[in-house]
Amino acid sequence: MALDEFALIERFFHWAPQSASTVLGVGDDAALLKPGGDEQLVVTTDTLIRNRHFDDRIAPEDLGWKALAVSLSDLAAMAARPVAFTLALTLPAPDGEWLNAFSRGLRAAADDFALDLVGGDTTRGELSITITAIGQVPPGKAWRRAGARPGDALWVSGCLGDAALALHLGESAPRALRQELDHPQPRVAAALQLREQVRAALDISDGLSSDLNHMLVASGVGATLQVDQLPQSPAFRSCAAPADLKRHCQLHGGDDYELLVAVAPDEDLQQRCPALRWTRIGCIEAEPGMRLDEGQGRVVALQSAAWNHFA
Ligand code: ADP
Ligand code: MG
Repeated sequence: MALDEFALIERFFHWAPQSASTVLGVGDDAALLKPGGDEQLVVTTDTLIRNRHFDDRIAPEDLGWKALAVSLSDLAAMAARPVAFTLALTLPAPDGEWLNAFSRGLRAAADDFALDLVGGDTTRGELSITITAIGQVPPGKAWRRAGARPGDALWVSGCLGDAALALHLGESAPRALRQELDHPQPRVAAALQLREQVRAALDISDGLSSDLNHMLVASGVGATLQVDQLPQSPAFRSCAAPADLKRHCQLHGGDDYELLVAVAPDEDLQQRCPALRWTRIGCIEAEPGMRLDEGQGRVVALQSAAWNHFA
């Protein structure tokens, strides 16, 4: 069956709206949304380009999931509740089997996090996926990168380095590591639960060192991280990769869709949010810059070393 643009949209991306805030979804020239109460809208866009952000090793179903998950991670980092998203999809050819799997993964993420696909655009070209996600947050409650104060504790959700190690190992990566790379879990529920406790936050999709640096610059402070506190998953710990590679993945690797937050020193996030692993990895200091405490009194400077598209 020939799959023209409109048939393709109808078949794979026209789902019944679920959310009360969707007045009008796919089908007209634009969508109509009605945010609840006096809440503010939170808007974020991310593009995934083939052979830049993903390669053909990822299953199309995982790609659909991940495309939305990365945007949901940005909403979580602002403590926003997801409301709706749009999808701009560029395809080399309309492949029904691929679209079926991709839309299934995308829809699984949309259903899990209760947001509607309300529109998009479909074009021909090299495979690329752009998602704009919209969330909402009560006035003054959005988390920002600025706000960390000397004495605050730095906590991170989940584990560090799995995705980067999977990428590095390629075909030989253990399944559990590969799963973190291909099917990340945005920390939406934890963010909503911890809304009141957090003073500064971001997600560490570009790598811990790079994203921590963004928080520190925005907040006008510095920090020291405890290297022996960086959380490792069981699969990461048992993987027989060189120790310096593993450390690099933990400190600088990208695609960890975890939250990094600064909170008051007496706050215990693990107790407050037990559904997720939380680890206290360092503290905020007045002296600018990043430092790494390697134990036995050895403290070294930490440089940010993340991927930069234009460096
Ligand atoms: P227009 O030409 O007016 O921009 P389109 O013909 O591109 O509209 O799209 C028709 C409808 O389908 C619009 O409501 C648009 O938002 C929606 N749409 C197009 N592509 C997608 C997609 N990939 N996913 C979801 N909705 C889409
Ligand atoms: Mg269009």
